[in-house]
Amino acid sequence: MAETPESTGRKEAGTYQMLWDCKFCGTEKLLGITHRHCPNCGAAQDPTQRYFPAEEDMVALEDHQYVGADKICPACQQPNSAASTYCTECGADLATGEAAPTFGARDLGTGIADSDTRRDVVQDNFNAEMARIGVTKADDHPVFLGLRKQQLVIGGVIAAVIVIIGAIIFAVTYRSEKSGTISALTWERTIDIEEFQQIRGEDWDESVPGDAYNEDCREKQRGTKQIEDGPPHEECKDVDQGDGSFKRECRMVQDYRSATEVDDWCTYTVDRWLKTREVTASGTTKNDPPPTWPDYTLATGTSVKRFGQERAGSQHESYRVVLDLDGDTKTCSFDQAQWETFVAGSKIEVGVGISGGPDCDTLKVVGSAPALPGRE
Ligand SMILES: [Zn+2]
Ligand SMILES: [Zn+2]
Repeated sequence: MAETPESTGRKEAGTYQMLWDCKFCGTEKLLGITHRHCPNCGAAQDPTQRYFPAEEDMVALEDHQYVGADKICPACQQPNSAASTYCTECGADLATGEAAPTFGARDLGTGIADSDTRRDVVQDNFNAEMARIGVTKADDHPVFLGLRKQQLVIGGVIAAVIVIIGAIIFAVTYRSEKSGTISALTWERTIDIEEFQQIRGEDWDESVPGDAYNEDCREKQRGTKQIEDGPPHEECKDVDQGDGSFKRECRMVQDYRSATEVDDWCTYTVDRWLKTREVTASGTTKNDPPPTWPDYTLATGTSVKRFGQERAGSQHESYRVVLDLDGDTKTCSFDQAQWETFVAGSKIEVGVGISGGPDCDTLKVVGSAPALPGRE
């Protein structure tokens, strides 16, 4: 059975009176709107002593015109309606009057207000006095140059981020010029060899390839999904309006829970070309002999579907200039045309980053190779 306001004893959404206690004569549970003064001793209502009532003490307000939080009279501290211009108590101008404190909201969820939110005034005053004389620390006092702890932490984080960004920019752009020689030119050409194969795979049903066969599927947990948990129900909160009244606001809430989601997980077979090996040719000369693609022979396959048959797949090539920077060996890759412009033995200069890697775009030849017989 769904919980209703009737079954829980909860009052409905609407406007109700805050309560206050007279601190002069001790009268309790005075009404925030009706009793602007204590009916017992005549003392003015103290808005700091207001509190949310327990469910059984709630007094509804019909046709309550909310005009804003009360203004506190700057002369006599009497709370006045925000619509007033002059204090009803002493006649002072309310233009500089501050708004009465509000006590925020209290969340009831699906429950009711079992007790009121009256504060322990004696305890509050004791705590304030302890903080004042320094026995306990107030939370938010300046710790350095008038800055609070939180501001210092935020400032520190910002400073650290700036330093880190600066360090990254420096590391990426830092170059020192180094000179050396080209110790060798190397090239390598590779061809992937693929073989036609029967492959077992597994996947969710909708992801199984269209040409799969020998499919075998069974149910398996795929994840979780959110499903409705019970019927929608009403949840309420009380919001202090600062004028001696509060508003009870209620809304319908739908709870959800996680539930297991099941789907078909399948194993299957497909016929595919797969890279099984590669053939490579490499060398250290430009023209003697020039770079060539490697030779290979392909298997023709045996079975009816020609499983085991091979074909040439993708080709890869790399052309590297090997640098000797004062005994440090580094390499730069180029395309074939650029690579062919370099000569082994040439003197070079190149920018080197902070990690020691050469910036190959800055590689320039500054002296020709010594004429060695047998070298290009
Ligand atoms: Zn009183
Ligand atoms: Zn006044």
